[in-house]
Amino acid sequence: MNLEQLLASFPHPVGPLRILIVDDQAVNIRALHEVFRGRFEVLMATNGEQAIALCREQRPDIILLDVVMPGISGHEVCRRLKADPETRNIPVIFVTSQSQEGDEALGLEIGAVDFISKPINPVIVSARVRTHLALKLQSDLLRSIAMIDGLTKVANRRKFDEELDLNWRYCLRERRPLSLVLLDLDYFKQFNDRYGHQEGDHCLISVAEVLSDSVRRPRDLVARYGGEEFVGILPDTDCRGATSRAEVIRAAVKALKIEHLGSAVGKVVTISAGVATQIPDFGSTHQALLAAVDQQLYRAKHDGRDRVCATEIT
Ligand SMILES: [Mg+2]
Repeated sequence: MNLEQLLASFPHPVGPLRILIVDDQAVNIRALHEVFRGRFEVLMATNGEQAIALCREQRPDIILLDVVMPGISGHEVCRRLKADPETRNIPVIFVTSQSQEGDEALGLEIGAVDFISKPINPVIVSARVRTHLALKLQSDLLRSIAMIDGLTKVANRRKFDEELDLNWRYCLRERRPLSLVLLDLDYFKQFNDRYGHQEGDHCLISVAEVLSDSVRRPRDLVARYGGEEFVGILPDTDCRGATSRAEVIRAAVKALKIEHLGSAVGKVVTISAGVATQIPDFGSTHQALLAAVDQQLYRAKHDGRDRVCATEIT
């Protein structure tokens, strides 16, 4: 399958593909830019520091990386990118004028997918980049399928664990608050007993849709946490903001007016939610945040359900 067919087969639209060119010599950047301009979004960096910062901010789909540069070498840039979960999956192709085999072996060992030698041959560079982009997109697609809950189509628990870790690191780095919202459908066992599991599934799907509509900034995530539990990750959101978002969700689920005559808190499906917020610091992990949000959900249920309880870890 070529790149265009692959892009067309994606279940969701893929924006313009981004390629990052890193080289300390303007003439080399110009030559590579000439090959890709118009067909891809081309990002450029002239040193290692800049390259790493661009990777974190812009998430390019592939990197063409010069080996010999003043400051951080290409090899070191590659090492750092591969050590960071946020940039680990971006394929790196080394562009090198040295053709020693030892160099190539080292490059592969630290995670590069290929080599291109200078002076570049436009046809070869273009073909190799397209091949590696196609492979990268295929693995992105497989990963995204493996991370989706089959019933509700929101993220699954595995994706949640991965994203919580990434967002913890992000908020730690940026000194920003990280909030979690954990919610549970009230008396869901009684719902299933009365209306059957098929209706139960429909109910879960409807609630998941409400969640996806309410939690939709680019870094936010909604996941199915367990049977009838869902969780939202809200980076860059303080406790007040997360609590009001949870209240919006609670109202929206109620507004679905899904009949639930087995509930002790009303005649329609309702949710209870816990909220916990923390500004990550180097001395702690996200375990305390998870425990806190769990505790708040327990409190919401214990205090009568159909409500939101929140706490801030300081
Ligand atoms: Mg150089």
